[in-house]
Amino acid sequence: MVNGLSVDVEAWFQVGAFEGVIDRSSWDSLSDRVERNVARVLDLFAACDVHGTFFTLGWVAERHGPLMRRIADAGHEIASHGWDHARVFALGREAFSRDVERARKALEDASGVAVRGYRAPSFSIDYRTPWAYAVLAEQGYSYSSSVAPIAHDHYGWRDAPRFAFRPLAWSPLIEIPVTTAQFAGKRLAAGGGGFFRVLPYAFSRWAIRQVNVRDQRPAVFYFHPWEIDPAQPRVAGAPLRSRLRHYTNLDVMAGKLEQLIREFAWGRMDVLAHREAQRAVELV
Ligand SMILES: [Zn+2]
Repeated sequence: MVNGLSVDVEAWFQVGAFEGVIDRSSWDSLSDRVERNVARVLDLFAACDVHGTFFTLGWVAERHGPLMRRIADAGHEIASHGWDHARVFALGREAFSRDVERARKALEDASGVAVRGYRAPSFSIDYRTPWAYAVLAEQGYSYSSSVAPIAHDHYGWRDAPRFAFRPLAWSPLIEIPVTTAQFAGKRLAAGGGGFFRVLPYAFSRWAIRQVNVRDQRPAVFYFHPWEIDPAQPRVAGAPLRSRLRHYTNLDVMAGKLEQLIREFAWGRMDVLAHREAQRAVELV
């Protein structure tokens, strides 16, 4: 069972948790640390002999062209994480269409490869955005991995299918939700991010085994380059809860990641999407 390994490439100051305290207009004056952090991710993937998908902001691609080519040359997939991390439900259809078009152009110009995959910032495709998949299909995307099928305070589409589904009757586009596990009748977020960093490693091992063995489906895991960067600048003035989420266990993340990558089989999301397309259910 080959699982999907994904990296959401954004700077430490572009996360949703800090959007209330770091203005977009200040981004260009901050050191984004993307080059060094992605270089460490590439080294880790090479050491473990795995390939993955880098869902990258257009804003990042426009500023780091050589890095984009280096990711693609190493055999990884370049995919889109939107332009500047604006949430899909906050954009509306027209602005979303412009956002994904601008991002894809920047990613393709920088990397020289075609972009066919999309991940919404903060998993912001949900029941409020019925038009989002039509926009992605019209723009030639073949898959999206933009849904967290759970209830969560910042995001989530709790009634969405847990595994690949076809949101549009007229398009082969599929959605591959991020991994959840089931316990006592509840869905638990188990696909990475802060949950992976904060909870004991054994939880993630249990969850991915459950998905692979009991559900007989691939898991979809994600993390961010800033999560392996304990030396990143600390943001003053952010809410305590945001700071706890963002800074807990940054120093142990790289070791945990390596353990996870070595314990399970991993690959690119476009390869996984191709396999999952045959099993995708219709969304009714
Ligand atoms: Zn993101």
